[in-house]
Amino acid sequence: MASNDTPLRVAIVGSGIAGLAAARILREKHDVTVYERGEPSVATGGQGIANFPNSTRILESIGFDYRRVGSVELAGWNSLDKHGKHLYSSDYNMRERYGAPLVSHMRVDFRTELLRLATAPAEDLGLVASAIPATTVWNNGAIDLDTETGRITLEDESVVEADVVIVADGIHSQLRNKILGEPISTQKTGMTCCRVAVSAERVEQALGKLPQWWQDQRERGQGYMHLVEALDGTSRFVIAYPLRDVNWMNMSWVFQTQKERKHTTESWHADGDKDEILEVYDDFDNSLKTMLRVADQVKLWELQDLEPLPTWTSGRAILIGDAAHAMTPLQGQGSNMAIEDADGLRLLTQPGVTRDGVPEILKTVESVRRPRAIKVLLNTRSTSKISSAADRYAKFDENCTYPGILGALKQQAAAV
Ligand SMILES: Cc1cc2nc3c(=O)[nH]c(=O)nc-3n(C[C@H](O)[C@H](O)[C@H](O)COP(=O)(O)OP(=O)(O)OC[C@H]3O[C@@H](n4cnc5c(N)ncnc54)[C@H](O)[C@@H]3O)c2cc1C
Repeated sequence: MASNDTPLRVAIVGSGIAGLAAARILREKHDVTVYERGEPSVATGGQGIANFPNSTRILESIGFDYRRVGSVELAGWNSLDKHGKHLYSSDYNMRERYGAPLVSHMRVDFRTELLRLATAPAEDLGLVASAIPATTVWNNGAIDLDTETGRITLEDESVVEADVVIVADGIHSQLRNKILGEPISTQKTGMTCCRVAVSAERVEQALGKLPQWWQDQRERGQGYMHLVEALDGTSRFVIAYPLRDVNWMNMSWVFQTQKERKHTTESWHADGDKDEILEVYDDFDNSLKTMLRVADQVKLWELQDLEPLPTWTSGRAILIGDAAHAMTPLQGQGSNMAIEDADGLRLLTQPGVTRDGVPEILKTVESVRRPRAIKVLLNTRSTSKISSAADRYAKFDENCTYPGILGALKQQAAAV
């Protein structure tokens, strides 16, 4: 290896979706260590997550194995009113349209697969032997960062030094202010989301059989978004999609915040109160409410986002993921942006990268990623309610055609 291709020491703060995807990409060339404040199983709710073609294209390029995860391909929408009356269905094959699928999976399974890709032996993943596994350090979060030297202070007061620091510590990032020079906090949107995952077994016990719309998906082995809207001016809706080979269903119940909960302002997650949600959806179809009743995990999020940040980089450190651009799940693009950010770090794996060149490369990453994420964030804000199929598809075109950082730089160069 030429001397200017010496592996860099990369420190990643946070083992969420952004941090682990970045670890997988950067291990191709560098010595990566991920520092996580929690246990190996941290940040793993039982709920689902959907990935659109803009991120599945990247996931497929890094060997993400849908079969291990029981991912379900989603091929359209079904729209109903609150009494269960069918309004319209639309097939929408994203693989045909954008060259990669829309898939859903259990969040815990998704993160486990990213962890495997970051830490499994190179030969298991078909990588070159020099792509050594990322090292993981659990239960030792970062509490301070010097962006010029790349020194990170950990909770146990030890100090580690890196050539590149990737700050991927989530929506309530502790290190964001070290990059921005001032603290910036999230803002609430006035909407609350209750998220549950429920197994087919439980629903069959409670209802005698699966609702027909679930059974259909099981028989086809293919899923779709099942959208139930109040359509009475209250902005309430429920969106359900299948997980784990259609044996589970993720349900998001979105409504205007009824009462503020101190703890949900501090974290995305808070244990929810089913009775309160059932009261908000009192006039909705009974079978849906039964599915909520028998779900064993109910989490509430008072939806929040971040104002677009003025910068993502300082010295040898860069913000990625929710730490850089937390957005509400109304377009389901948060984790997709995290994966796109990780792909942006591919610039650090190109030939000729040196320690001295890191700050400039991070600026180039930011020059593509920040405007892109701001656009998606603002688009998400304008999706304040579920819109018509035509509106939705126009946004899909914008979101799903992102060509990755190398493609985006090529497009920029061609436009000059
Ligand atoms: C209700 C809801 C539904 C959603 N649905 C979707 C969806 O369908 N599709 C989609 O694309 N996105 C969705 N999102 C958004 C998605 O979950 C986030 O965008 C994504 O998790 C961001 O990943 P991240 O790695 O940046 O942050 P996280 O996944 O939050 O990870 C941050 C990690 O950093 C760790 N950490 C924090 N502080 C420190 C520290 N000081 N030191 C070390 N480690 C630290 C945390 O413990 C955690 O492990 C949804 C969000 C919500 C709230």
